[in-house]
Amino acid sequence: MTSSIREHLMTGDLMEGAAFGAMLRDLERRDARPATPVVVGWLVTDRCQLRCRHCWVGDRRTKSLAAADRRRVAERLATAPIARVCLSGGEVTLLPDLGELVGALKAGGRPVAVYTNAIAPLDGPAGDAWLAAWDPAVDYAMVSLDGGDAASFDGQRGRGSFEKFVAGVRALRARDVRVLAHYVASPFNGGDVHGAAALASDLGCEALAAEFVYPRGRARDLPRPAILDAARSFNAAALRLLADPALNEGPMRLALSFPNVVPGPAALPRRLPTAAELRVPITSGQTHAFVTAAGDLVPATHLRDDPTQRFGSLLDAPLAELWSHAPLVRRLPRVRDLRRTRCAGCEDFAWCRGGHHYRAEELAGSHDRSDPWCFREPRPGEDATR
Ligand code: SF4
Repeated sequence: MTSSIREHLMTGDLMEGAAFGAMLRDLERRDARPATPVVVGWLVTDRCQLRCRHCWVGDRRTKSLAAADRRRVAERLATAPIARVCLSGGEVTLLPDLGELVGALKAGGRPVAVYTNAIAPLDGPAGDAWLAAWDPAVDYAMVSLDGGDAASFDGQRGRGSFEKFVAGVRALRARDVRVLAHYVASPFNGGDVHGAAALASDLGCEALAAEFVYPRGRARDLPRPAILDAARSFNAAALRLLADPALNEGPMRLALSFPNVVPGPAALPRRLPTAAELRVPITSGQTHAFVTAAGDLVPATHLRDDPTQRFGSLLDAPLAELWSHAPLVRRLPRVRDLRRTRCAGCEDFAWCRGGHHYRAEELAGSHDRSDPWCFREPRPGEDATR
């Protein structure tokens, strides 16, 4: 199968396949808000055995729920018409009751994905109990594959982590678990997405999604020159990847999000956006929502500490009830309107899509503003195109 660059830029359907993507597009087209979110990311714990240098959770420690309350949240999610529950953290395989949570969700017919660093996917406190309810037809593990070799991987995730990661993914594959990989390029790992994709393919991953770090948490003070250098390295490695027939034409699906902090590679598609394209759908708070380690429903991960954004606790009410009361809190907009921004006349819109809506809100005060990281945004005394 040959993949085009255009396909590589389409990340939305990567995890669920075409039917799921079509459902989301239908909701967007009808401007419909589902009765519950379609995908729920449950950030079950902030605990982790690693101290990755790019980690957005960082050294934050939320008061986690007791096991009985986690079970209650799982049962509430299990009875809601959700297309997928993604369990993530922190590191969820550190939870001794992970098997119980997966079992409760699966008993309600919910497809489950487990996001893991794969350091001890079977030997941690959860053991392999979480695989007892595994259904390879619908579930998958999403592993954090942050480098293609020990030097780059350990540079980001800590000494000795590469070896354990490879052993962990092999253990999952030996049990026929579907494995997808997620790569975050940063100054810590050098941005070699080509090497990361080669390892993902060797390990039998079905897909690799690659994106560039958004420095928050432990990486919030990364110096800008290092970010720019890593972004350029990522782009160069992406070009090598796309020129590698074994990977670009192989069975492993690729989804690359290019950093807009530097100009994209010349090979990326370029054209001016249509007027309709400048209204970019925002899934957070519409089709996607998150549950915090404390059990609160929030529209987006970056808003989980904002008390004005909590839809309520799943310990107190079912998902549909919390969701229907969401107008009581400040809802995120359904679309990001870029018609009045620099993006309207930008030929790079085809690959960039306006950059990051979180960043626009966080740094410029509105989703409808330009992404302040865009290389086209003027910065006194800096030539970002060098
Ligand atoms: S102007 Fe908009 S579309 Fe163009 S590169 Fe910047 S953020 Fe991306």
